[in-house]
Amino acid sequence: MTEKVTIDRQLDADDLIVITGAGGFIAGALTRHFHDLGYKRIRAIDRKPLSGWYQRVPGVECLSMDVSEKENAIRAAEGAAEVYNLAADMGGMGFIEHFRVECLRSVLVNTNLIDAAWRAGARRYFFSSSACAYNTDLQRDPNVRALKESDAYPAMAERGYGWEKLFSEMVCQEYWAERGLETHIARFHNIYGPNGTWFGGREKAPAAISRKVIEALDSGNLTIDIWGDGSQTRSFCYIDDCVRGIDRIMHSPKLIATPVNLGSSELISINNLVSMVEEIGGVKLQRTYDPGAPKGVAGRNSDNTFIRSVLDWEPSTPLRTGMEKTYAWIAQQYADRKAGKRVVRD
Ligand code: NAD
Repeated sequence: MTEKVTIDRQLDADDLIVITGAGGFIAGALTRHFHDLGYKRIRAIDRKPLSGWYQRVPGVECLSMDVSEKENAIRAAEGAAEVYNLAADMGGMGFIEHFRVECLRSVLVNTNLIDAAWRAGARRYFFSSSACAYNTDLQRDPNVRALKESDAYPAMAERGYGWEKLFSEMVCQEYWAERGLETHIARFHNIYGPNGTWFGGREKAPAAISRKVIEALDSGNLTIDIWGDGSQTRSFCYIDDCVRGIDRIMHSPKLIATPVNLGSSELISINNLVSMVEEIGGVKLQRTYDPGAPKGVAGRNSDNTFIRSVLDWEPSTPLRTGMEKTYAWIAQQYADRKAGKRVVRD
């Protein structure tokens, strides 16, 4: 079912597409996606120096600037037909449980950028929200009911990061309702894949577990430490599905100012994810558990009823397929780093 849908983007090849956070994981892949589709004017922006970007796509205008500053947001949105806001201070549970102020301050990015996009007369604006916007009370059990879009309210989002997402969603909805800027909002559920953060403290479970298995194999110390008791469950969405989903959501007239899940509905426990990566790596490790480590909610899955009904599409890459590609990429990065070459990181 995945590739049947044709997307009517109502976009000319030389319309300007602006993508923020483009030095990072998802926006880097999104930049490549539009470039490969033949769009000629793409402005990619990230506050990291260009040397730290995960991907640099040839022919794309790359700017290093902080779009939480009003003047920079105005410069970023100048002449844009579409603005994709994927810039946020962001990481796995280890980051978002320890740096709530940084997460909350991403509100400045969306607040300034959406206003700049509206003033610049942009046709569409995309906001990357998160499953962390959902009510945490509904996620206390590993055998969770999958989260549907209406579960964000009554609100009890993840402290810091989740509240910023929920508030910024509302800003996007009101810019449409009061000012007529067409906004689109996706709630991402754990995106993973090649070219993501894989070490340094911001990495998420699929990358962290892959790296730990690779390290164990390399060092001969066949142990792995797992955050929490490993019973927590999640679904993980492969990067290619995420990028295609963003494109579809942004160009669906049925999804204006309407948050929609963008995630896989294949639920797995962290223990079983470790087993999957062990199989891929061809090794069995001794497990130790760290109950005090950040572990997030007990369970979280994406209910895809709504996205299926609107787009006739949903993320469909099997976790095993995506993890094999991710593991192979991290193994290569690991070998490159060991050989003294430059690798992707925070
Ligand atoms: P990432 O950390 O790889 O990329 C985010 C990029 O934004 C970074 O390169 C960072 O330098 C940049 N940035 C941060 N603040 C900035 C600013 N003020 N000005 C300019 N650039 C700035 O993260 P990602 O995984 O690619 O996430 C992209 C978006 O998707 C974020 O909004 C994130 O909250 C959201 N999201 C991601 C996931 C996931 O699983 N990866 C899940 C839910 C939501």
